[in-house]
Amino acid sequence: MTNPRVENVVIIGSGPAGYTAAIYAGRANLKPVVFEGFQAGGLPGGQLMTTTEVENFPGFPQGITGPELMDQMKAQAERWGAELYTEDVVEVDLSQRPFTVRSEEREFKTHSLIIATGATAKRLGLPCEGQFWSRGISACAICDGATPIFHGAELAVVGGGDSAAEEAIYLTKYGSKVNLLVRSEKMRASKAMQDRVLSNPKIHVHWNTEPVDIFGNGHMEGVKIRNNKTGEESELHVRGLFYAIGHTPNTSLFKGQIELDEVGYIVTKPGSPETSVEGVFAAGDVQDHEYRQAITAAGSGCMAAMLAERWLSSSGLIQEFHQVSQTPDNDLQPQPTDHRTPPDTEFDINRTRYEGGYALRKLFHESDRLLIVKYVSPGCGPCHTLKPILNKVVDEFDGKIHFVEVDIDKDRDIAENAGITGTPTVQFFKNKELVKELKGVKPKSEYRQLVESYLS
Ligand SMILES: Cc1cc2nc3c(=O)[nH]c(=O)nc-3n(C[C@H](O)[C@H](O)[C@H](O)COP(=O)(O)OP(=O)(O)OC[C@H]3O[C@@H](n4cnc5c(N)ncnc54)[C@H](O)[C@@H]3O)c2cc1C
Repeated sequence: MTNPRVENVVIIGSGPAGYTAAIYAGRANLKPVVFEGFQAGGLPGGQLMTTTEVENFPGFPQGITGPELMDQMKAQAERWGAELYTEDVVEVDLSQRPFTVRSEEREFKTHSLIIATGATAKRLGLPCEGQFWSRGISACAICDGATPIFHGAELAVVGGGDSAAEEAIYLTKYGSKVNLLVRSEKMRASKAMQDRVLSNPKIHVHWNTEPVDIFGNGHMEGVKIRNNKTGEESELHVRGLFYAIGHTPNTSLFKGQIELDEVGYIVTKPGSPETSVEGVFAAGDVQDHEYRQAITAAGSGCMAAMLAERWLSSSGLIQEFHQVSQTPDNDLQPQPTDHRTPPDTEFDINRTRYEGGYALRKLFHESDRLLIVKYVSPGCGPCHTLKPILNKVVDEFDGKIHFVEVDIDKDRDIAENAGITGTPTVQFFKNKELVKELKGVKPKSEYRQLVESYLS
């Protein structure tokens, strides 16, 4: 669907850079359109959706979780009139003005563009990587570390930066021992993080070591490693391998249209978010290989929005959308349908929603409806993203289905029996039989179609 209006500004990305640009552009009455993304370059909300505590974002002296921080930024962007679409941009055309930005669902013409597409976790490309992906290999310790297969097991993390250090420390909560595979003889992580790693008795650092391949039978049993100084190869018997080897900037959409450096980062003018194309600005990790922090991303998002406004104004293109009234403060809090579940003692088969292993066991035996089970873990960003998507679908089929949310950290035995290897995972049961399993976050339409097909 093409909107006949030409927008002031379209923002691609919903990490700290994208939402901050949206807040500033909204406050400047530009009514920004934001493509939050879905799967192409990370998650809606960006990289902080995959972390637990953010201790260094100013204004939160006690720290704040990544997903909570991103929820607040999103609410602030919406408050100032940003129009948000949880969709991936699949094509841009910067060769003609106004520019064109297209997702699978819609197309916008826009005078200016802010690119805030961030960066994506790298893969190693090991020969058996595909076979063991989500069956032992994970790029998100926070999402998958709590899964039962990793409890009490020996694990490995590959990488030498802050993310690797953070993940190794986090995994000591679950694993019996964490092997940290560092390619060289020193880590790139900050001194403070290195100290925490090196003083942790559950972490064993293997210097000058890299993975060569994975082995196992169905599920991962270990990693073949090589000491790159001696060339000696050996086997490390671990049940999980967590990647923390850095990120690739999400710029494939822009190749050949704006200047990129040799690694793919967008080239901006020194100290400015301006790119090689007038009216196109870049903010956050997509143009920053040095600082890569939430606050620097937010700062550059602010700069991009301010320069976009100036540019629109000086080009005589600006169209202001004055806000009639501002949303009252209490509307900033998510306004929910009541999704709470009564305690076990009040189990009532006529309800639609339940939580926990007790309810699941009862429903498995007693339910004559389609049974949907969502497995989540604490602090898992994708679980956070999935929540509103699945809630809407569950509401649509109220009274016709049973829905149970299971926290795999609280109900480990249930998750183990269900063969859960990562979160979020959604399983569909009909007549006590598992008929479908979906891992990760899918579009709402996919869940809806599945429910419809099983109900018909
Ligand atoms: C595990 C971890 C922990 C971290 N902890 C901290 C911390 O404690 N403090 C700190 O300051 N920083 C931390 N960082 C770094 C911080 O998360 C990043 O610097 C910051 O998120 C970068 O913001 P960004 O807006 O540039 O991009 P990102 O956060 O990467 O967001 C990019 C956005 O672009 C979207 N996108 C990509 N492609 C498309 C497309 N084709 N169409 C539409 N949308 C698209 C994605 O969906 C995403 O919303 C951490 C990073 C990680 C991975």
